[in-house]
Parts: sequence; C-alpha cells; structure tokens
Amino acid sequence: MAQRTPFLGGNWKMNTTPATALELAAAVATKARAFPRVDVAIYPPFPFLQATVAVVAGGALVGGQDCSSEIAGAFTGQTSAGMLADLGCTSVLIGHSERRHGLGETDAVLSKKLGRAIDAGLVPVLCVGETLVEREAGNTHEIIGLQLRGALAGHSAEAMSRLVVAYEPVWAIGTGRTATPDDAAEAHRTVHRTLGVLYDVRFSERVRVIYGGSVNAKNAADLFSREEIDGGLVGGASLQAADFAAIIDAASLRA
Ligand code: PEP
Repeated sequence: MAQRTPFLGGNWKMNTTPATALELAAAVATKARAFPRVDVAIYPPFPFLQATVAVVAGGALVGGQDCSSEIAGAFTGQTSAGMLADLGCTSVLIGHSERRHGLGETDAVLSKKLGRAIDAGLVPVLCVGETLVEREAGNTHEIIGLQLRGALAGHSAEAMSRLVVAYEPVWAIGTGRTATPDDAAEAHRTVHRTLGVLYDVRFSERVRVIYGGSVNAKNAADLFSREEIDGGLVGGASLQAADFAAIIDAASLRA
C-alpha cells in the first residue's frame, strides 16, 4: 500500500467562544508545527474562522464544517466554498453525519458541495458511515459504497486528487462507543475498494481514509496503528488542547 501522510482533523462543531477558539487554535498550531509530517486541520465554527486563520498562521489547516452547494446568491444562512477560501481556509468538511442525518443532506447535494470545494482549492474531507440500524442489518459496506458513489458522481480522479475520506459510523459519533480497529480497518478497505472501482487502484491508494467516532487520547494509537487508518476526525476530544495534542502524537507514529 502507498505511504500516505497522516491526516488529523478536529471538528469543533458548535462549541467554543471567540476567546476559547483562539486559545485552542494557538495551542493546536504550536503542536502541529512540531509535526510537519502530519497534516493537522481544525474546523472551528464559521464566526471564528477568520480570527482562527490569523492565529494559526499556516501552522495547521483551517477549514469550514460545511460549505454551500451554490456559488453565490439568495441562499440565506449559507457560506460558499469561495468565501471560505477568501478567508484563508484550506479545507472543508462535506457530509458530516450531523448534516446528512440532522439536516437531510443528500448525496446529490454533497456531490455539488464537493465540486464547489475543489473549485475553491480546498481539501475536501468527505464523511461517510452507516447508522446503527444499517450496521445491525448487515448493510455497512453497502452504505459506504452508496455514499461514495453518490458524492463522487461526475467528479474525475484529477478533480478529486486532494480528497480525504472520513469513515464515521454514526453510532460512534459523540457516543463514547468507538469502532474496533478491526471493524474500522475493514470499512476503510471498503472505501479503498470502492475508489479503486470508481477510479483506479493507483488513485485509491493515494487517498487518505481517516476514522471518526469517539477517538480520544487513549484509543487513538491503537486505531492509528492499523495500516488502513490514516488518521482521524475528532469531535469531543479536539476541544481539549492536551487531548488533541496526544492524538497528534499518536498520528505522528505513522509518519
Ligand atoms: C465528529 O464530530 O466527526 C466526531 C467524530 O465526533 P466525536 O469524536 O465526538 O465522536
């Protein structure tokens, strides 16, 4: 398998204040600068992005937790990928389960968002993953395949060259229930297999596939020790600088 640079994202969701966001961003940037062989990214709330970009000053990627499927116009409350780029953002989350399942975002909409992210020059982190009902029905791998095919429809390998895929089983997000490294690795193989069919094996082997779902300072090293798990997307534990720093340490063992 190809050597891939570890990728670690901190999804802050709707947390932090103007002051705590900057404090946390500064701490993450200081830590990330010491690990140039790990791609560290943070996803603060939209109102704090501009100040965060300034504080981080290139020490880590800073991204939006979402972007619009449209370029500009009468879309109240939305933020375009171009606006994120103009602020200095370098990445964006696409299709987080809290948007897929909480807000009903479809694969067709996510496919458009991916296109906008690429056009704006951002690193898109496409989130996929099954619900508990889907897992218990034995449909995990089918769901991953469907979500990937839906979101990547119409996008060339060249356009998707910066793609990162986050496998985030919905039942593991924010629940304290983590997928076993074996289960996560198996799901990641499904992601690679699907990408290999959609594009080709060389493309598939270059794409980083990261795991998300109750990753913390204690379980990160075990998860990241698996060849298939190129890093993580971390929610709760990314809000504590010391915990996220420990997870960066765990990711750096892959570098
Ligand atoms: C997430 O928000 O993508 C996530 C994985 O959250 P948590 O780490 O809290 O489960």
